[in-house]
Amino acid sequence: MSLRVHHLSCGTLCPLSRRLINGEGGWLEPAHMVCHVLLIESPAGLVLVDTGFGEADMAADTRLPAAFRAQAGLRRRPQDTARAQIVALGLDPGDVRHILLTHLDLDHAGGLSDFPEATVHLHLREQQAASTRRSFLERQRYLPAQLAHGPRWQTHAPEGEAFHGFAAARAIPELGEDILLLPLHGHTHGHSGIAVRGEAGWLLHCGDAYFHHATLAAQGQPPAGLRGYERLIAMDNAQRLHNQQRLRELAAHRPELRLFCSHDPQEYAGLARAAAG
Ligand SMILES: [Zn+2]
Repeated sequence: MSLRVHHLSCGTLCPLSRRLINGEGGWLEPAHMVCHVLLIESPAGLVLVDTGFGEADMAADTRLPAAFRAQAGLRRRPQDTARAQIVALGLDPGDVRHILLTHLDLDHAGGLSDFPEATVHLHLREQQAASTRRSFLERQRYLPAQLAHGPRWQTHAPEGEAFHGFAAARAIPELGEDILLLPLHGHTHGHSGIAVRGEAGWLLHCGDAYFHHATLAAQGQPPAGLRGYERLIAMDNAQRLHNQQRLRELAAHRPELRLFCSHDPQEYAGLARAAAG
């Protein structure tokens, strides 16, 4: 069985500078980053992988901190939310039964409150990190207001079963091996990748395990601005670099597996175009 997958961008980020972030264009030009979300039509109902920003983030009286908006350059576009895009596709947001999260950073968890009935799957360590917010960095990145509705958590701590060398959890019993949660810790303590068997083959949503497609090339490096930023906000930098190396090897040896991250506009455009046929 394969699943029908839509690629959505549920947030448009335009921080400075295009040269430092996208690796091209002017130093003082705004960069362009997406928030890559998957919408899956499955026998178990609609499934989201990550949620980007939600309606309450895009509202005029937004719940997002002013400092974050200024730094990230978030465009206030209500039509970007997953909920709005599901309606635009002629589907029912009430049919979203499951949400899988790479992690709970505010640019990934914002849409949860638009689907309060859905079961939210994530790694156990991520749910613990977001609920305790032990460090300064975790108090900036996890936003309690986005979780105030009380998500229906279902945590996973995969061990044993493997997917191309990565431990994997079968998060949704009805979907068995077609949607898997894979630990890819480093960016945050419980950060994970989500593998989905789509119509065109396996997809691996790597979340924020890396930020720019050049990272996956042999000896690849992201643009300087991103490289510094990734290191700065990593909860476990050694683990993050180790996992990037594993992803690089996977990309080299398993070209049939399509890897992509959350914020790269080029990866997003290619996959969205291919899925639209
Ligand atoms: Zn992110």
